[in-house]
Amino acid sequence: CGIVGVIGKADATQVLLNGLSKLEYRGYDSAGLYVNDGQGQDHLIKRVGRISALTAAVDGSVHGVMGIGHTRWATNGKPTVANAHPHVSSDERFYLVHNGVITNAAALRAKYLSNVAFASETDTEVVVQLVAAFARDGLAARAAFAKTLGLLEGSYAFALADRTDANHLYVAKNKSPLLIGKGEGFNVVASDALAMLKETDQFVELNDGELVTLTKDTIAITDAAGRPVDRAPITVKIDA
Ligand code: GLU
Repeated sequence: CGIVGVIGKADATQVLLNGLSKLEYRGYDSAGLYVNDGQGQDHLIKRVGRISALTAAVDGSVHGVMGIGHTRWATNGKPTVANAHPHVSSDERFYLVHNGVITNAAALRAKYLSNVAFASETDTEVVVQLVAAFARDGLAARAAFAKTLGLLEGSYAFALADRTDANHLYVAKNKSPLLIGKGEGFNVVASDALAMLKETDQFVELNDGELVTLTKDTIAITDAAGRPVDRAPITVKIDA
């Protein structure tokens, strides 16, 4: 299982597929990606099985300048296309990939989402539906994500995309691996630096409880209390 995300690349789809193929060693039962071209076109593609099945499903029209990708190791819900990530809110605004397990998902669904129709059996869908519900209540995307994170128990590495805003990507981690790869005019994020070595050798490590807003040029980290965190990239040289 692993996640990957990118913003500011003309070939986001290829960056995601390449990154996912480098995460295959972590094990998985299904895979998917979401890309947005920033001009009103977006694509969600999910497959059970190998990355090659996902790659085969991506035809020449699946372009994006930002996107998120996932390999799933099912914990909540069988390995099916419906349970594969990215998960999407029922208003089709937010797309989320997740590694880990949210242990209080059922309680959160009962408390906040009793009127929302679910498309999957996953703990992850509860999270993306919560973000969308808080956004409908009036919060900006980042604030809706921060409010959601504050309610979660369990482990996660998340990458969140907002269909209405291709200029921002949101990521967060708690007890699952995740780090940022810093580029020139783009940024990437993944569970393992291996997935990003083709794009950059500059990495920003993340601590549990941190939330990051990425643009193609900036990396804005806050801690669990919402305070800004200043962290310089480190150079990682690995022969891969
Ligand atoms: N708990 C989530 C699911 O079952 C994420 C699993 C994973 O880490 O791949 O879909």
